[in-house]
Amino acid sequence: MASNTPSLSTHRHSTRTRWLVVCVVVVLCSPTFSQSHKDESNDLVEIVKLDSTVRIDVRYASTNNFMKRKMYSQARVFLQRPAAEALMRAHAKIRKAGFGLLLFDGYRPWSVTKKFWDETPPAQRKYVANPKYGSKHNRGCAIDLSLYDLRTGKEVAMQTEYDNFTTKAAADYPGATDAQRRLRWILRDAMESEGFKVNPDEWWHFDYKDWRNYRVLDIPFEQLK
Ligand SMILES: [Zn+2]
Repeated sequence: MASNTPSLSTHRHSTRTRWLVVCVVVVLCSPTFSQSHKDESNDLVEIVKLDSTVRIDVRYASTNNFMKRKMYSQARVFLQRPAAEALMRAHAKIRKAGFGLLLFDGYRPWSVTKKFWDETPPAQRKYVANPKYGSKHNRGCAIDLSLYDLRTGKEVAMQTEYDNFTTKAAADYPGATDAQRRLRWILRDAMESEGFKVNPDEWWHFDYKDWRNYRVLDIPFEQLK
């Protein structure tokens, strides 16, 4: 019996190891596991609820936008929670410079992106996302924004208006005045220090670094708390 003990123990050990490997493989390959990392759609946060000193001007909820019609039924701005918290840190930095964040758009339902694409002339489509892939706005990981002056409460004069689809809107547009360069740098510096990256064609658009972790969503604002 004694001579059998080591081999039995070895057998038990290898069986246990095999089970462990099987369990790890099952867990790693199960949809539930991958979704727990990729599907965080229920964590969209409404920004003004985190900080009421952030201002919003959701032009897609009005007719004052490039589509010339109301694209959203409600003027609300959402981001995935980690992006929203990073945005609050950027806002705190910007306040020290005498400005606050003015938000134009955050999470955008996929069906709105589809309408933008369908109704934009092909020559200008570099400014709208292809609905075939969805956009970072659709994932709740992109934000369109500018600054407002804390003393006056008014929007600052950047190099162009929001949603100006010309080369003047480029993040590194060389024709900007010194005052405009300073303003865009205050915005960009605070945002990039918190994990956002500016879109080279649009000074107002920033993507959050972890956008790949989130799915393209088509949840209407009315269904978000
Ligand atoms: Zn954008």
